[in-house]
Amino acid sequence: MSTNISVSVRIRPLLPSETNDGMKNILRRIDDCQLVFDPKDPSSNQRNTYAHGSKRNKELCYAFDRVFGEEASQQDVFEGTTQPLIPLVLDGFNATVFAYGATGCGKTHTISGSPSDPGIIHRTFHALFSHINSITSDSPSTTITLTVSYLEVYNETIRDLLAPACVTSSAASSTLDLREDDESKRVTVSNLSEHSPETVDQVLALMTLGNKNRIKAFTEANAVSSRSHAVLQVYIHKVETVPAMDKDHTAKETHTTATLSIIDLAGSERASSTKNKGTRLLEGANINRSLLALGNCINALCSSTSAKHIPYRDSKLTRLLKYSLQGTCRVVMITNISPASVHYEETGNTLKYANRAKEI
Ligand code: ADP
Ligand code: MG
Repeated sequence: MSTNISVSVRIRPLLPSETNDGMKNILRRIDDCQLVFDPKDPSSNQRNTYAHGSKRNKELCYAFDRVFGEEASQQDVFEGTTQPLIPLVLDGFNATVFAYGATGCGKTHTISGSPSDPGIIHRTFHALFSHINSITSDSPSTTITLTVSYLEVYNETIRDLLAPACVTSSAASSTLDLREDDESKRVTVSNLSEHSPETVDQVLALMTLGNKNRIKAFTEANAVSSRSHAVLQVYIHKVETVPAMDKDHTAKETHTTATLSIIDLAGSERASSTKNKGTRLLEGANINRSLLALGNCINALCSSTSAKHIPYRDSKLTRLLKYSLQGTCRVVMITNISPASVHYEETGNTLKYANRAKEI
């Protein structure tokens, strides 16, 4: 059975600073599924000339599973992308949600949001806890445990964002190794700390702590840009006990497990466009390596040819997600793009990547 992948695009609004700078909007959303990149300016006969010297507008039309416009609320995006996964995860299907896009285009806003306008993580746990409550109150013989881990992949190394040491030193812990277990179909990270929050507030406290520990670095492209992939994993373990029919039988237990991964990817901008040297360039190469590998894996998974090789081993991120991308998994890619003319090139590249993930 092939992986079920959906690709959505979220266009953020022009920010007040961008409007003040007189930037133009380089996107037009047509409907729930289509948008045009670099449309002709309908308000004038003059063709736009901001497209890096080109004299014509590209007018590229793209179709995706969903296109969310700037007016889409956090709840709209949650309902249109992640909410349908929750009952599936509780039934034992792995699922992965990731936000892809250049720095400043709305990934963290979409995944984490702010306390006054929370994003996907907050809404997901809200829904998870309420589903779990209703399942266990309907069926008292069912217990569900939920375990959370939060790590980052930075420069092809894995760090625990919730390691106990981080609580006091607020420094990222040492590098961790991946362990693949083909039998249980799980990739685990050795020594990764696991947490069992019982309320949404406890989850948010963990996220706040973890986000403080994310590595951030200065680049020329953006004042502070996040250079790491932040991976939140929720492990669900459901145990259903069927009581013994009579004294000659013993009670039966069935175990169902699944992992939901929610990922705020590193900025997709290319190293070349950030004009960095040395370390930053190396980071850029590694970031692209994980993103490229992710794109290649998704591409291969979507391909209809039967004998196919999925290049999971090409990066830490794809090795980690091996069992969260394949088979009966659900994968949701949320592509964040900016409508500001200053992001012309990045938005164009992001749409190409997203279109490639969707194609075939
Ligand atoms: P990224 O994580 O991709 O670098 P951010 O999520 O930090 O981008 O977004 C960059 C800026 O744009 C932030 O100030 C954020 O609040 C704002 N922003 C992003 N998406 C939206 C949105 N849909 N509505 C309003 N503001 C947004
Ligand atoms: Mg961010």
